[in-house]
Amino acid sequence: MSNDQSAMNELHWLIDMVQTIEVGLVVLDRDYNIQLWNGFMENHSGVSPNSIKGQNLFSRFPDLPATWLKQKMESVFMLKNRAFISWEQRPYVFQFKNYRPITGRADFMYQNVTLLPLASLTGKITHISVIVYDVTDIAVNKLQLKAANEQLERLSQTDGLTQLHNRRHWQQCLEHEYDLYARYSGIASLVMIDIDHFKNINDTYGHLAGDKVIQHIAHILSHSLRETDCAGRYGGEEFAVVMPSTCGADALNFTERLREKIASSTVVYEGLKIKVTVSLGVCELGKHISSSSSWISCSDKALYEAKQKGRNCTVLHCAPTSAE
Ligand code: GH3
Ligand code: MG
Ligand code: MG
Repeated sequence: MSNDQSAMNELHWLIDMVQTIEVGLVVLDRDYNIQLWNGFMENHSGVSPNSIKGQNLFSRFPDLPATWLKQKMESVFMLKNRAFISWEQRPYVFQFKNYRPITGRADFMYQNVTLLPLASLTGKITHISVIVYDVTDIAVNKLQLKAANEQLERLSQTDGLTQLHNRRHWQQCLEHEYDLYARYSGIASLVMIDIDHFKNINDTYGHLAGDKVIQHIAHILSHSLRETDCAGRYGGEEFAVVMPSTCGADALNFTERLREKIASSTVVYEGLKIKVTVSLGVCELGKHISSSSSWISCSDKALYEAKQKGRNCTVLHCAPTSAE
């Protein structure tokens, strides 16, 4: 075989491969007119090379992010450097439908795109190549993993019965709020809530009815909060709320409204109507509180006093006067 023949063969093979390779190949001239459009691009766009050759990329595909993409392409022409567009930066450049059965959950093809400067024989950059990789499998896997991790994180922070924060996560909110106070001062209040005579409810109606009562109170509580409040299930039938930017008097206002809402509500369990009340202790942050745990114990003390006073009421913890 002569050298010419062998070179011709190689060219033939190359053209065949460019046509069939599972990667999109496009060549554009300086005015973004399409000079090459391979089989992958044809299969996914439904546009044949013959019908598109010589046409302007942006006129033919008006959905392309023209300003953004031209800026990228201009820098490839000017700087003679390649550029990359990752699916994480922009899910796709060409809007192709995704037909892959395994990743059927994605509506479109995720793409990584490389822009490559192509030099003419004189070394001038007269064209660029756009290389489109289908990364749908990788993207969908990564997104699913991310969603699963987020779901796991949510579960690890949530109490299963009430959907409030669990104690561990709530404690982190409390410590964060206390640290803010220790560093910058400011105002915050802590509310502890305990269901009255809950043991009686369990004993009278059964443990499942007790669970329903816990859920009922958590529901009323979570619908009474502001966005910034952080409520958690502190123990079996105890709840706690960290209220940032809230003085004791305002927290007391909140607890009284909450207490009345609970007292006037009824839990219906298997046709039985159950009435329930709560006692509450409130403590506003102040100089006498030296740690997050002393914040809890002062609120607990106030709650204990509310129980002593006869339940179904709130007690606001009083800071010791300076004379004490
Ligand atoms: P007080 O008014 O003084 O708070 O009395 P109480 O009966 O509410 O308090 P006590 O601490 O004696 O009883 C709390 C009961 O809550 C005991 C425990 O069996 C029950 N309990 C704890 N966690 C759960 C739970 O998740 N579901 C149910 N149904 N009961 C629970
Ligand atoms: Mg209790
Ligand atoms: Mg109780």
